[in-house]
Amino acid sequence: MLNRVLLLALLLIPPAVAVAANPVPLPRERPAAGAQATAETTPLPRERPSEMESAPAPSSAASSAEPAASSAEPPSSPGEPPPAEPPKPPRDYQVACPALMQGKVEGKALPPIHDGQCGLQSPLAISAIAANGRSIPLSTTITTDCGMATALPDWVAEVDSFVFARDKARIDTINVSTNYECRNVDHAKAGNLSFHSFADALDIMGLTLSDGRKISIAPGFNGTPEQGRDILHFARDAACTHFMTVLSPDADSFHQDNLHLDLACHGKQCVTRLCQ
Ligand SMILES: [Zn+2]
Repeated sequence: MLNRVLLLALLLIPPAVAVAANPVPLPRERPAAGAQATAETTPLPRERPSEMESAPAPSSAASSAEPAASSAEPPSSPGEPPPAEPPKPPRDYQVACPALMQGKVEGKALPPIHDGQCGLQSPLAISAIAANGRSIPLSTTITTDCGMATALPDWVAEVDSFVFARDKARIDTINVSTNYECRNVDHAKAGNLSFHSFADALDIMGLTLSDGRKISIAPGFNGTPEQGRDILHFARDAACTHFMTVLSPDADSFHQDNLHLDLACHGKQCVTRLCQ
């Protein structure tokens, strides 16, 4: 009888009491597994890249980025001065002249000359010409280019040899006049620039010889042999094989007292010489 009462009492105990008495509750493990799964599926590093990508977008960052951007663009403001000229190159790109390096002329390189349309990038200051083993000074240092510095020595050597063959004298000094000068042809107010404007021309006034004679284009060119006519005519004719333009008193009224020499290009191929 007592056993039946106890069995009945056990059957009447509520299920909650039986669960509470269970030492291994399953509900404690499920929240832990759930929290771990949440951390793995929503990691912080995945959210940060998405923020970085959206930051540069103009629509989302416009309000904070525009002030800095506008201050970095000076031309966008209407009242500001025009932009400054582009910076100059880091150096002057000049070239060396072999005639100077090899001692065919005496002088030195000069800085570039930029004078409007006139000038040149690699001018030279030449004070003497080497010819027939001697240094023949110019009456004044000239500013010229490498082409003229290259052509002058051979021409001077030819004239010097002619003077020696004819009169047993030598050229002591080459008397020169205009070299570099920014001006039009024949000093005209309008027209083409002279090649003097590019330091590619030289005016010869005459020669001083070792025997003491001073031969001048005027009046020697159209004068007597004693005034040097033969030497000056030879000098003009010889120049026509070394230079591209030679203008003597036979040319025009502008060259009655000088022999103009330059290396100007004549003709499409630059092989035509103007010899007057
Ligand atoms: Zn001239």
